[in-house]
Amino acid sequence: MTIPAIKMPAHVAMIINILESNGYEAFAVGGCVRDAIMGRTPHDWDITTSAKPEEIKALFHRTIDTGIKHGTITVMISGVGYEVTTYRIDGEYTDGRHPNEVTFTNNLIEDLKRRDFTINAMAYNDRAGIVDAFDGIADIENKTIRCVRVATERFAEDALRILRALRFSAQLDFSISEDTCEAIKSLAANLKLISKERIQTELDKLITSNNPDRIGLIAKYNLGSFIFEDASSLTKDSDTFTKIISVMNLLPADHYLRWSALMLFENDPGHVLKKLKFDNKTIDISSRLIKAINFPIPNSKTKLRHMIVKFGKDLFDSYLFTFIDAVSHAGFYTAGTAAEIVHLKSMYDEIVSAGDCLSVKDMAITGKDLISEGFEPGKTLGEIINYLFDLVLNDPSLNDYETLLTFAKNYRN
Ligand code: ATP
Ligand code: MG
Repeated sequence: MTIPAIKMPAHVAMIINILESNGYEAFAVGGCVRDAIMGRTPHDWDITTSAKPEEIKALFHRTIDTGIKHGTITVMISGVGYEVTTYRIDGEYTDGRHPNEVTFTNNLIEDLKRRDFTINAMAYNDRAGIVDAFDGIADIENKTIRCVRVATERFAEDALRILRALRFSAQLDFSISEDTCEAIKSLAANLKLISKERIQTELDKLITSNNPDRIGLIAKYNLGSFIFEDASSLTKDSDTFTKIISVMNLLPADHYLRWSALMLFENDPGHVLKKLKFDNKTIDISSRLIKAINFPIPNSKTKLRHMIVKFGKDLFDSYLFTFIDAVSHAGFYTAGTAAEIVHLKSMYDEIVSAGDCLSVKDMAITGKDLISEGFEPGKTLGEIINYLFDLVLNDPSLNDYETLLTFAKNYRN
């Protein structure tokens, strides 16, 4: 592999320059060096330096104390923030999540040692070139995720690294080295110590990558019960993962669609997603999609209009058809045949282009209108509106002020 010349953004080169000309060491480090070597565009550039936090702050006009205890200062240049972190050694880990304390050091190699994988443990600056003390370049060439030094120690320190290994494997299309695999298996139970929020973030990066099939590693390494706890479809056999992967491979890399695919065989996807501390929008969309996919496919526009109201038009516009197509092509759609899906789409297009009324607020008569026509506000009025809405869903041609007023009067009498 020929390694491309690393071209640091001007601001990064400037920060490194300022630190060096004040007598400190400074390097770009971690993901940005990995990505630059691989010819990918780094999305952010982190800097590691021998300067202590207060020394960093003294050299730049605008800084933010992002994680000053752990040595991280954000340096602001023209409105863009760059994380500059003091070389550090992580102390002992007793909780399987974070070091008890960190100490600062003057030695770059000590800082690289604490990092998770060899491909993430390289540093670069224009003066020294690439510093690769743990054979990260060789692992990039072999497309391998390998822990820095002893894998069992790295995962015992911080079990999140297990999911980071899976995530990088999916994002970069790398395999995981044998010793690292063995360590993952032996320390899987430590995943119980990791917060669901951090688990969710790593899984999301994995699932929305170009290789979502790597989610199958969860079954291969028996991690399911430590991540999904009581989610019955995701904690036992690898067969479910095989099915889910065949659906995911047919879906675009969309957060909502890919998570819905993972929840495809769950009875209560909302419960599983809530336990993973998901936001309400993800829980709502995935729950509705899974329900809709199990709903009998409507064979008339009337039934379809009712279904749209039941599940929400947004679902139909943005997700449902893509999802049904994928589930159906993978062979797991049981609510209708391929011909019925085609029919469903054409009925939907007709409903949308005809502008059929699909919500109470789009009716030709409103509650306010009815009150000014002499109807009493209250429970009965609510019943009348629901009755009129049903009529309009069954026959959109009834959505006319006078017609609905007549129906309302008849209902009252
Ligand atoms: P991405 O491209 O997703 O940002 P990244 O490699 O930059 O990937 P970050 O989470 O941004 O990952 O972390 C930056 C660097 O910090 C990593 O490259 C790695 O060297 C180190 N690092 C991050 N998290 C851990 C961890 N849990 N254990 C050890 N080192 C870590
Ligand atoms: Mg990063």
